[in-house]
Formats: sequence, C-alpha cells, structure tokens
Amino acid sequence: MIERSPIMVTGGAGFIGSHACKALSDAGHLPVTLDDLSTGNRDAVKWGPLAVAGLQDTKAVAAALQAHGVRMVMHFAASAYVGESMRDPALYYLNNVGGMTSLLAACRAARVDKVILSSSCATYGIPDRMPITEDTPQQPVNPYGRTKLICEQMLQDYEAAYGIRHVALRYFNAAGADPEGELFECHDPETHLIPLALMAAAGQRGPLEVFGSDYATRDGSCERDYIHVSDLARGHLLAADYLETGGESCALNLGTGRGYTVLEVLAAIKQATGVAVPYRLSPRRAGDPPMLTADVSRAQRVLGFKAACPDLVQIIRDAAPSFGLNPVPEEADAQIPA
Ligand code: UDP
Repeated sequence: MIERSPIMVTGGAGFIGSHACKALSDAGHLPVTLDDLSTGNRDAVKWGPLAVAGLQDTKAVAAALQAHGVRMVMHFAASAYVGESMRDPALYYLNNVGGMTSLLAACRAARVDKVILSSSCATYGIPDRMPITEDTPQQPVNPYGRTKLICEQMLQDYEAAYGIRHVALRYFNAAGADPEGELFECHDPETHLIPLALMAAAGQRGPLEVFGSDYATRDGSCERDYIHVSDLARGHLLAADYLETGGESCALNLGTGRGYTVLEVLAAIKQATGVAVPYRLSPRRAGDPPMLTADVSRAQRVLGFKAACPDLVQIIRDAAPSFGLNPVPEEADAQIPA
C-alpha cells in the first residue's frame, strides 16, 4: 500500500478547510484535521483523522503533528467576520494572532517547516486601483484584516529566523459548495451574500438587504470577485506541491479576476434556481469597500492556478442544494422568463 503524505488542516471541519481536505484526499494526501469544533462540523471530516483541540493548546497541536508524522500545515482555523472583529477585536487578536503564535510554536517543536496560510483580500483594505495585485499596499481597515496581515508578517519573520517556508493565499469571496454534494455551504452565524440571498429565495428568511445602492459601480451596488470553494481548495493543493518541490515563500491572490455586483448576484441566483430573490435596497454596511477584484496573474504564473469554475451561475448552482433549492439545469437557463 502506498503511504499517503499527511498534511495537517487546522479548521478542517469548517467550510473551506473541509473542501481542502477533500481535494487533498483526492490527490493522494492524508488530511489530518485539527479543529475545536466551536464552529466546525464533525460530519464534514470525512477524509482523514480528526484531532479535537484548540489552536492555543500548543502541546496538543504538537502531539497531533508528531503522532501523524506531519511535515506541512494548512492553516484555516480563525475567526473571520469583519463586523464581529469591529465589535470584539480582542477575540480576533486572541484567536487569530494568538492561535497562529501557538500553532507556529507547535510546528517548531514538531519540525514542521512548511505552512500554507488562509489570508484574505481584507488585508488590502480599500485600494484605490482595481484589480488588486499582490503588490497593492496592504492597509487593512478592520481588526480581522489586521490580524491576517500580522499572520502573514509572522510567517516572514519565522522564515528568516527558523526557516519555515510558506505560501499566504489571499482569498477573495469564497462561495459555492462541493459539486459532488459531499459537503455543504454553511456558516454560523450566516453573514455572506450568496447564502443569505439563497435563504431569502427559499423563503427561509425575509427579503435580502442590499447594502448600498449609491456606490460608483455599474449599478450602484458593491462589486466582489466570487471564487468557487473547490477552486480555492485546488489552489491549496497546488501551493502544497509548490512548497513540496522547494518553492520560495510567497503571497498569492486567489480569485477569478471577474467582479459581480450584488444586483448581478441576485440575477445569477434567478438564473441558477429559477427563483427570484426578494430584496430591498438598504443603506451601506460600514467598512464595505465599493469594489474588490483580483489580479490573478501571479497565482497563474507561480502555481499554474486558474479558477476552473469562474462562472457565477454555476457557483450558485453548486451552492443551491445547501439551502434546499434545486438548481435549474444548464440547458434550461435560456427558457427562464426574466
Ligand atoms: N451584502 C449585502 N447584503 C447582505 C450581505 C452582504 O448586500 O445581506 C453585500 C456586502 O455589502 C458586500 C457583498 O454583499 O458588498 C459581499 O458581502 P459578504 O459579506 O458576502 O462578503 P465580504 O465581501 O464582506 O467579505
């Protein structure tokens, strides 16, 4: 039997982490999930062992790394709500910076020398030029973005001092769910546009509030770059291969390079599900940049990464079953009355 190379996935019971575990397993690796199950879902851990421990428990993390002979970590476990980070920054510094400090101490103890970090386009703040390249100045405008930037900076310092190589992957807006239906899109609490809009379409909640209709965009609503979660997972796999074959530390955007406004997302939901999303125009949400789209050329050059599913309608088709909606088959799209 061929031995599968073990890779620790912190937050492997969460939305993006569980999709990464599936991609790792499909590629012949053994994902070793570390998760405290505070927001993750035990049922999403299907492709390898689960160690239930908090990141702050350095000894438990080091023991899990050693027990499974891990040499590389993918680090997803973090608090990731911008609004919550404004209300309770202490939680974010504790979980994200404290968690990272403890994780890296465990890595050193267990001689793990490769780390892939879930970073975010929130580290860029509100850039004045689109699309965003990796050289766009990182000027985060909320505690969440600041903690992710600190994690990136820690990795640079730890490489210089301890030789830990890394790839920081700066995600744009993760969306969708496993096309094979083995995993679902779920966040608790739910704050993200596509799930909330699908819930509104399914009648599970009232009309969606469209936050802001007076931005300087095509239709006045905010524009974002939505990337399929399975594409994000594949980006991690490519980053793992890159580090495995001696690649230098770097930071890379993961997006599709294409932006959709909130109103365009609602139209895509109608197209993907046949159901119109009830909505009302509301005031702007504090801290929302008008537009965030990725320049994806560096990830393509360095990793050979290109989103396989950049089509928003397909991303929504894959997410729809998570909310009890049946996607309309592709060939039927054209027949849906506007
Ligand atoms: N949004 C909205 N109504 C909602 C939730 C989100 O209009 O109920 C907008 C939000 O203002 C942003 C976009 O949808 O422009 C994506 O927001 P989300 O919270 O999904 O991700 P973010 O871009 O904040 O990471």
